[in-house]
Amino acid sequence: MKAEMIFTGTELLMGHTLNSNAQYLGRNLSNLGIDVTLHTTVGDDWDRMALIFKQALVRSDIIITTGGLGPTSDDLTKETIAEVLDLPMVLHEESMASIKQYFLVRNNEMPDSNTKQAYFPKGAEVLPNPCGTAPGAIIETKSNKIVIILPGPPWELEAIYDNSLEPYLAKLPVRGDVTRFNIFKLTGIREDNVQDLLNDLDGVDNPEISYTARPGEVHVRVSAHAKTASEANNLIKPLGNEIKKRLKPYIFATDNEKIEFVVGDLLKEKKMTIAVAESCTSGLLESRLGDVPGCSNYFRGGVVCYSKLAKEKFLCLDSEELNKHGTVSEWAAVSMAENVRQLLNSDLGLAITGVAGPSTSENKPIGLIYVALSTPEGTKCRKYKLPGRRTAIRQGGVNASLKMVRHYLQEI
Ligand code: ATP
Ligand code: MG
Repeated sequence: MKAEMIFTGTELLMGHTLNSNAQYLGRNLSNLGIDVTLHTTVGDDWDRMALIFKQALVRSDIIITTGGLGPTSDDLTKETIAEVLDLPMVLHEESMASIKQYFLVRNNEMPDSNTKQAYFPKGAEVLPNPCGTAPGAIIETKSNKIVIILPGPPWELEAIYDNSLEPYLAKLPVRGDVTRFNIFKLTGIREDNVQDLLNDLDGVDNPEISYTARPGEVHVRVSAHAKTASEANNLIKPLGNEIKKRLKPYIFATDNEKIEFVVGDLLKEKKMTIAVAESCTSGLLESRLGDVPGCSNYFRGGVVCYSKLAKEKFLCLDSEELNKHGTVSEWAAVSMAENVRQLLNSDLGLAITGVAGPSTSENKPIGLIYVALSTPEGTKCRKYKLPGRRTAIRQGGVNASLKMVRHYLQEI
């Protein structure tokens, strides 16, 4: 069964909004074994939408549209689809009642314009929207095509998908293979170097290896498709294990893991606390640690000591020693980690200092980073030469430092 998606919204074309619905639907449909063959994005324009929709009806079995279900005059998805399918728009009483209720519980009267959201092409199965006023719909056409209409706001689309669309799609009789994947997230290595390391494993279709470069990280994805999830997982396993072996020094997280959450769980499990000192990352590490709900259980806080003066004043680093070794040095990283640990009386002290660029500092190369971790057993320091530009180096520094903490906590 071939599926295609039509995303409507001029703001998507102009780059004001990132098309996250494409990612969400693509991921979920492939999990169900539905083959997504095409995406189109079209502006809020009746003629263009009608043209794309007519073409989709010829080439695909399932057509999913998102957006354009709002109350305003530029919201025209349902009306265009009804015209192309030659169906009249009819009032869906239950939707009318729930839209009125939506406004009532918010102490508002329903504006007349919202009436439009309760009208659907005749014969449509309406998918209630628990998070907003625009319900979705499924239309099974005379020529055996399935047309699925969903609202644009991602949280509304996702709620409808979970509540009523997935159960419908899961029951469709003819579905293809199921896709499963493993993701390895790496830091401290360039994408082309990763590819070189895996060259001899690459080039096969199923399981397949693909690469994505993000600021400060490279993702290696191994995916496989098969009739069942366990068959697909069995295809991935040997290749995944081999990749893990080869890339071990660089892997900081896998699949949907976020390393700050993993580190947080480990700190809670070991009942340990952490404090941080940041130079070139100037608060990024603290921000990532602070993203985790409940981090107050283990995160004592930290110091952004960007300048030499801040390193001296906040962390009591000796001025002469700093001059001798440089602010980007093993000595500086180790002293920062040890002093912040002592100052905040934490179990662990983590420090980063380095050259994020674009200009060099102390004649040291861009991308040179020292990460130090002070623990009850002593202090360790690692030197990295991170690839990329400023954003990538700063993000990469944070990933590398959290990876060091993860590694330590997993070993003790
Ligand atoms: P509304 O009732 O809010 O008008 P709608 O169903 O008409 O909903 P749109 O007007 O197309 O949907 O978009 C509403 C909001 O959802 C916008 O803020 C838009 O940026 C966001 N949105 C729309 N499509 C997408 C998409 N594909 N990915 C991410 N966000 C989207
Ligand atoms: Mg709209």
